[in-house]
Amino acid sequence: MSDLRELYQQVILDHNKEPRNFQKLEGANHTAEGYNPLCGDEITVYLQVEGDMIGNISFQGSGCAISKASASLMTASVKGKTKAEAEALFHTFHKMLTGQTDSAFDPRELGKLAVFSGVREFPVRVKCATLPWHTLRAALEGKEEKVSTE
Ligand code: ZN
Repeated sequence: MSDLRELYQQVILDHNKEPRNFQKLEGANHTAEGYNPLCGDEITVYLQVEGDMIGNISFQGSGCAISKASASLMTASVKGKTKAEAEALFHTFHKMLTGQTDSAFDPRELGKLAVFSGVREFPVRVKCATLPWHTLRAALEGKEEKVSTE
């Protein structure tokens, strides 16, 4: 288990250092901003929605390693997915982070997002990991107001 934990740690650090899709998206038709006052994480999510599908996604912002790595892995996970698929993924991800792993929970659905499983031991950090997802949801819904985790 400690080997796995170390691997997870490395993936998070790698995505923090070299976040994927970390840029402003030219041609974005949905954007939203999110803020986690507990930690100071700030993020802007850019989306190019094509019909019901997330055709392209990127983000910018500043924050802790967890929030940045979570945003990076989120963009990689939802690109090319439908809104409903992205929502379902967030639901499963949230279950993992809050320890609500009931019989319907299948960690295989999460793919690389499983690297955040250790975050549930640090409740304060759960908001860092979910901020990008709340911001994604706001962007999909076309909310103008800044999302806050508080
Ligand atoms: Zn944070």
